[in-house]
Parts: sequence; C-alpha cells; structure tokens
Amino acid sequence: MSVKNEPGGVKVLNGGYKISGCFHRISPSRPVRDQDGRLMGVTNPRDITHIHMYGGEAVFFESLPEGRLMASRCGNSGCETAGSIYMPFRTHCPDCLGRNTPVDITDLARKTATVYSFMTTERTGAFNTLKVPIKFINIAFDGVCTILMGYLSVGEPAIGLRLKPIFRTKDPTFTILDLSWVPSGTPEPDLPDGFSY
Ligand SMILES: [Zn+2]
Repeated sequence: MSVKNEPGGVKVLNGGYKISGCFHRISPSRPVRDQDGRLMGVTNPRDITHIHMYGGEAVFFESLPEGRLMASRCGNSGCETAGSIYMPFRTHCPDCLGRNTPVDITDLARKTATVYSFMTTERTGAFNTLKVPIKFINIAFDGVCTILMGYLSVGEPAIGLRLKPIFRTKDPTFTILDLSWVPSGTPEPDLPDGFSY
C-alpha cells in the first residue's frame, strides 16, 4: 500500500494535533448495470477518518482494557449533592459544576451490579458490530446515583439479574465496546473472545 493511502493517524504533541496519513480516501469505482448489462453509472466509494476526542472522559476508556471501571464523584464539600457517584463517567458535577474526581468502582460493580431494565433488538443502526439480537441492559449499582447503559454478552436479561462486568483486555478498541456484562456465575471460558473478568 502506498503511503498516500495510509489510514489517517493522530498524535497530540504539546497540546496540538500531529496528523499523518490520509483522512479522505477513495476506492475504485464499480459499474452499475441494468438487467441487460447496459452501463447505468458507477459507485463512488469514499471513506473519511473522524478524530473523536474524549477530553476529560479519556481515563474511563483507558481503564477498560486494564479491567477497571472508572466512575466519577463530586468532592466539593460546599455542594448539596457532594459525594454523589456518577456512572456513566461525568467530568463535572451537574449541581455545583465543579470538576469531579475519578473513582474506581470495579469492585463495587462486581458486588452490586444488577439489571434495572432491558431491551432486546434485532434492528440496529449503521456499522453495528454487536451480535444480534442485541440485549441492551440498564445497570444499577449500590451507592451510584445514575444508571449505566450496556449490553449483555451471555444469557438472557431479566430485571434484578445480578451482573459481572467483563473487559476486552485483548485487542482493545478503546471504545465503550470494550465493556460488556454477563450474569453472575458465568464461567470464564464462556466469555466472548478477547474478554476477561
Ligand atoms: Zn457538586
């Protein structure tokens, strides 16, 4: 492959982007024909690379392949909801607007995560990479004031089902897909490829 067609890559150096490779790529066209073989047109395949920055949430995504689940907590003693723990990770407290502190809730999740509600779907959006039917679950934790959305990788969802988090520790994507859930008691060999407790 020529350097010209290398996928776009990014580093941050001294607070600025250093980009390399190609951010707009074209692939060869293919003919569009009718039933008699007459040329009607061509396809124009294109792809673009989007730089998606995590900002203050980066610690959450960095921790998943290390098998850790990071929430955040308001530590402002002057805030009327001080001590509240947020999962999904919130960089700032919605009440005092102060900067939250990251807090590791991996053990708390292992001990207390349960299905609050769930939804199973056969129809997905574009570029879906999850196995259908997708078992979306809303997850509650003791002492956490918010509910997390996730997906169940093994078994069937039920309200109140006890859960364990699993993490994609092999070939991580550094996206939310590195975190999934299984019913408590699922044997390790039953976990999806690349995932571990
Ligand atoms: Zn606060």
